[in-house]
Amino acid sequence: MAKPKIATTSLAGCFGCHMSLLDIDERILELAEIVDFDKSPIDDIKTFTGRCAVGLIEGGCAHEENVEVLREFRKHCDILISIGDCATMGGIPALRNMVPIRECLEEAYINGPSVHNPAGKVPDDEEIPLMLDRVYPAHEVVKIDYHLPGCPPPADTLWEALVALLTNKPVDLPYELIKYD
Ligand code: SF4
Repeated sequence: MAKPKIATTSLAGCFGCHMSLLDIDERILELAEIVDFDKSPIDDIKTFTGRCAVGLIEGGCAHEENVEVLREFRKHCDILISIGDCATMGGIPALRNMVPIRECLEEAYINGPSVHNPAGKVPDDEEIPLMLDRVYPAHEVVKIDYHLPGCPPPADTLWEALVALLTNKPVDLPYELIKYD
C-alpha cells in the first residue's frame, strides 16, 4: 500500500522550525518508513506530486507569494498544521505590523543607516512579490487544523503530533511537550 505523503513549507519564517523537525535525529528514518515526503525544502521537491495527508506550515504570510503557497497547501493537504510562533501568530516578522508598510519599505530600502541606494527608490520589479499590509498568521488566510506553537516547537512535539496523525490516533500531547516556560 502506498505510504501517506507529507509536505512542508517555509513562508515568512527562518527555517528554524524545519531545523527542529530535523532534530528528531535518527527518528527521521522511522518517519521515512511511514511516510513519503512530497513538496518540501527537505527533499527539494518544488511542486506537489499528489494528495498529501499532512502539510506543515512554517511562517505566516508577509507577501502575496506566501498567500499563494499557503492556499496551494490547503488545496493539496488533508490536514494542515501551523508549526511555530510565526505561523501561529506572525512571530518576529509580525513586529512590522506596528509600522505602516510604506514606512517599513522606506526604512529598508532608502532611509536605513546601512542602505546605499542612490536611486532612492523602493524596488518595484514585477518579479518581486507584493508585500502585504501586515504579516498574517496562517489561520487568518486558510483553515488550519492544528497549531503547534513555540520558537521553534521542540522536535519531540513535532514527532509526537506527526506520529499520532499519521497513525490515526488523537493528538494528545503531554504537558511537558506544550509548555514554554
Ligand atoms: S517560530 Fe521561530 S524558529 Fe520557527 S520560523 Fe519563526 S522565528 Fe524561526
